Parts: sequence; structure tokens; C-alpha cells
Amino acid sequence: MLALNRHPSGRHFLQIPGPTNVPDRVLRAIDQPTIDHRGPEFGELGREVLAGMREVFQTRGPVIIYPASGTGAWEAALVNTLSPGDHVLMAETGHFATLWRRLAERLGLRVTFLPGDWRHGVDAAEIAAALRADRAHDIAAVCVVHNETSTGVTSDIPAVRAALDDAGHPALLLVDTISSLGSIDYRHEAWGVDVSVSGSQKGLMLPPGLSFNAISERALARAEQARLPRAYWDWRDMLAVNDKGYFPYTPATNLLYGLHEAIAMLRAEGLPEVFARHRRHAEATRAAVEAWGLEVLCLDPNGYSPALTAVLMPEGHGADPLRKLILDRFDMSLGQGLGKLSNRIFRIGHLGHFNDLTLCGTLAGVEMGLAAAGVPHRPGGIAAAMARLAVAEPPAR
Ligand SMILES: *Cc1c(COP(=O)(O)O)cnc(C)c1O
Repeated sequence: MLALNRHPSGRHFLQIPGPTNVPDRVLRAIDQPTIDHRGPEFGELGREVLAGMREVFQTRGPVIIYPASGTGAWEAALVNTLSPGDHVLMAETGHFATLWRRLAERLGLRVTFLPGDWRHGVDAAEIAAALRADRAHDIAAVCVVHNETSTGVTSDIPAVRAALDDAGHPALLLVDTISSLGSIDYRHEAWGVDVSVSGSQKGLMLPPGLSFNAISERALARAEQARLPRAYWDWRDMLAVNDKGYFPYTPATNLLYGLHEAIAMLRAEGLPEVFARHRRHAEATRAAVEAWGLEVLCLDPNGYSPALTAVLMPEGHGADPLRKLILDRFDMSLGQGLGKLSNRIFRIGHLGHFNDLTLCGTLAGVEMGLAAAGVPHRPGGIAAAMARLAVAEPPAR
């Protein structure tokens, strides 16, 4: 807490969909002396985290680690593969897709933005139609957000890949996995993604400050011709020294200690088990929302996010006063509505360092908050979630 006069007892519940709660193990790993980033010890750390991130992205290809927020990795994906004036196809899944589009336009790219209602994932059929209509192959890249954190809706990335393949279109496929990596099954290589963009502060359970690009062979080849100005983000400077575990500039050494620990935790649990745990907690959360008589923002059951659930407020009730009351009384932070969803929804983050009791505590805070704020609802959400947890596949141990 930055308000130093505020010392609530017990743990703060940081249930926004990122940054997420950082495990003590990771915090302890970060709390080690910073070492010489050109010395022999660092090379070993660098090689291990770079190899570990290939496992997490499910790829054998290169992964780049930037000392930057996810936004930096968005920019890196574009400037390494595209040239001024290039045409990019994007889909309006929500606030983050909208921000990525704005970034692309600022870089001087021409964006076609397929409109969306912020309650569904990308429509692969619409992408297929746009690609088929583009006989001249003017479109240089298709950019999609895998888990739209502003809405709690996921998109079917293999279906987008199939749209490209069926159209025989050579555009690159760029995917934002910032809030899905390490929480929702994501396969950079098997799904034929060219650049995957991610960040440290969501499923990876780290503080903010690191971000990633996973890169395909095709994207690497494209980087040789791309003409957008790039310096800090240039993959080539990174790759030239990454095989020995080094970086072309000072890396975020202590965050890399944390990353090393987080990768060990993901390995110990097993990625399939991590993904199953997130699906199970999302299901139980939706059972609670349904029992309250409230509405989940996502309208497509195939798009329900395993990482977070966005809940629509009943007409006439603001989400922000409810979130404020829950923070003041129960010391829990919930995600706010972003962009046009401001004050209309709250978002429950159930990703990262999270278990059955974290879920029960989180839902108890929401249910007590709904009652205290006088928001019309039925009680029994936690009971419904507990009943769902009892029958859903148990967590692997
Ligand atoms: C958090 C998030 C971002 C933004 O990342 P920053 O680290 O805040 O720059 C972008 N896209 C998605 C899907 C996110 O969840």
C-alpha cells in the first residue's frame, strides 16, 4: 500500500486481471543481489529463462525478453516485421485491441479494424472474407488479441490461422497473449503464429516490467525487409547475443530471477494442469454470477475466458462505487470497466497465483459488496461456486 497510514491486516486481494498476486517464492527470488549482467553467472540465468519461455510459449523458435511493459512488445512485433504504410488487419474485440490499433496507426500503418461488440471474440469468417477479397495481398499482417482482458472474451486463434491458410494469404499472424500466456492454453508453434506478444504481470505471476515476443521463421525472415524505424526493439541485436544468454543492453536482472522461479512453478504444476485449473475457476466464477442473477459480459460460451470474468451491472447501478466499497471494506481490488465499459462492468481476475480458497474469498468479497452497496442480486453465489468446485475436475497435485 502506498498510503503509508493504511495498514489493513491480512493479505490484500489483488483480483484485477493483471498485475496479479505475486507468489512469495517469486518475491524471494527477486530479492537477491543484482549481478554483473556480462558475467558468467548471468549467461546461465539468461539461457535458462530464454529456454523456459520457449516451453511456456510452446515453441522451439526464439523468444525475446524486453525490459518493458506489454505495450513495448506490441510495438516490437510491428516495427520488426512491417514497413511504413503497410496494411494491417485488426479486429475490435475490446479496449486492448483498440489500443493496439492506435499504436499501429501512430507508427504509420494503415489499419482495417473489423468492428466488434466487445462481447464476442474475433469472427474468423469475417477475417477469411477480408483475406479472400484481398487478391493483391496488400494486407501484410493480421493482428488478434487472444484473451481480451477488457471483456473476458477469448478468440479462436487456430480458426484465424485456418482463415489465412484457406485463403492462401501470405500475411503474418500477430497475436497478443499478454493475459493468456501461462493461464490459457496457447501454442505459438502448433498454431502457426508468427509473432506472439506477452507480458510478465498476468499469468506469469511476476510484477510488471518484462514483456516478450515469440517469433516464427517467417517473421524472422520478414524482419530483414521491414523498414519501420527500430532501434531499441530490434530483434537482431537481441538474437545476436541471446544464444549465450546475454542481452544487448542492461536486462531487468532481478525480474529475470523472478521469471526463473515462475517458470519452475509452472513446470512443477504442469502446463496442462495450469490451464485446467484456470478453466475450473472460471466455471465456478460463472456459476456464482449466474446464482447472483447477474450477467456475464461474454455472450459466446466458446469465448468464456479462463483468466477473468467481466460482470455487467444491473441498469442504474455503477460498477465503480461497488468496486470502491469492496476496496475500502474488504481490501480487495477488482478490475474496472475500460473504455466504453467504464462503470458498466467489473472484472474478476482469477488467474495466476490462485486456488480454490482464493476464489471463495474473492467471491465472498463480491457478494458482501453487492449486498452492502444495495445492488439487486440473489445471495448464494459462493455456495454455487463451491458446488461447482466439488464436481468439476479436481486440481492436479
Ligand atoms: C495488460 C494487457 C495489455 C497491456 O500491457 P501493458 O503491460 O499494460 O503495456 C495489452 N493487451 C492485453 C490483452 C492485456 O491484458
